[in-house]
Amino acid sequence: MNNILGIDKEHLWHPYTSTTNPLPVYSVKAAKGCEIELENGTKLIDGMSSWWAAIHGYNHPALNAAVEEQLKSMSHIMFGGLTHKPAVRLAESLLKIVPIGLNKIFYSDSGSVAVEVAMKMALQFWHAKEKFKKNKFLTIRSGYHGDTWNAMSVCDPDTGMHSIWSGLLTEQFFVDRPNCRFNEEWDAKDIIPLQILLEKHHDEIAAIILEPIVQGAGGMWFYHPEYLKKAFALSRELDVLFICDEIATGFGRTGKMFASEWAGITPDIMCLGKAITGGYLSFAVTLTTNAVADTISSGNPDCFMHGPTYMGNPLACAVAFANIELLHSYDWKNNIYRIESILKTELAETVVFSGVADVRILGAIGVVEMKNPVNVASIQKEFVHEGVWIRPFGKLVYLMPPYIISDDELVFLIHKMKKVISKF
Ligand code: PMP
Repeated sequence: MNNILGIDKEHLWHPYTSTTNPLPVYSVKAAKGCEIELENGTKLIDGMSSWWAAIHGYNHPALNAAVEEQLKSMSHIMFGGLTHKPAVRLAESLLKIVPIGLNKIFYSDSGSVAVEVAMKMALQFWHAKEKFKKNKFLTIRSGYHGDTWNAMSVCDPDTGMHSIWSGLLTEQFFVDRPNCRFNEEWDAKDIIPLQILLEKHHDEIAAIILEPIVQGAGGMWFYHPEYLKKAFALSRELDVLFICDEIATGFGRTGKMFASEWAGITPDIMCLGKAITGGYLSFAVTLTTNAVADTISSGNPDCFMHGPTYMGNPLACAVAFANIELLHSYDWKNNIYRIESILKTELAETVVFSGVADVRILGAIGVVEMKNPVNVASIQKEFVHEGVWIRPFGKLVYLMPPYIISDDELVFLIHKMKKVISKF
């Protein structure tokens, strides 16, 4: 096939772009470690981990071996009425690392579906208790929880474009995003809007749903752990469930295995995805407590009404297990601090650039917020020309490299990023 780009442009729909005037795409031949090789031979150092999933880099021998080994016995088998070792082994491995108390595990296919499952669990929990009025969600602006219908209803109303869906999307309760930054002194005023809303409407609210500490695709904002702690405490006081969407933050990205650990909380429901398979296969998990699961099972209907075709896919479970083993096989936390300290030394200084409004660094995440939205097509071309893969959105140019990135590769990535953004 020698017309990949032509056929792609004519027939393939890419994320968040037009079909008549699409953003350019680059054809990839292979990827290994932190390097992406384009069809034309250009090599790029990866700063994105394929939307935050490929934490151990590409084409990893241990993850390849896990998939190959699993292929020898079965790639898929239905989960209705059947189970298998990869699913159970992964469950055991997850139970050792998730916040204590999350004992029931629901496997699904993608982050958005894991959020749908979490929201449905919360609704069915209150249904089982015959508190039918508790059927809305409370969330914070600048959040992102996926592109399916209910997940969209709790995304930021502006960037999630709620206005075009008004009357169709369920209207949820929103409060402004927390103001207080991760590293600032805690300002007790920050929690007041959430407290007021919750006090007034808790009878109508099934759950608070939020991304703990790091708001990702809705704005790359890092907020104070005390906000999370206080929001959780209010949920206990006012009898609403608490859902942590750890799809972007899970598996070490912020310097804790899960970002909810910064506040020392066990949410009622937690969603995991993205990095769970190290970027190998689409797979996600929704975990909950025995209390939530048992309440749902005591209701009418007495079962949770959800069951995706590829639930518990053995290939995905096998590679997810190997991915967690890989994380345990070295001092991942120190490695995140290594990346964080290089980002702090090399990237933080961009705050003085004339086009830069703000710089935020936490764990293996480095975010530069520009004063104006960037032109993705042209900046992307410059990045590729410089030999790096960085995919900005809106005003945000950010790095979320694979954890295995070497010091030299990371410094190269940051220097190239600085070179390009210094022109704005
Ligand atoms: N929740 C969060 C916090 C996310 O960052 C994302 C994906 N960016 C999702 C949910 C949706 O996941 P997926 O794209 O796998 O459906």
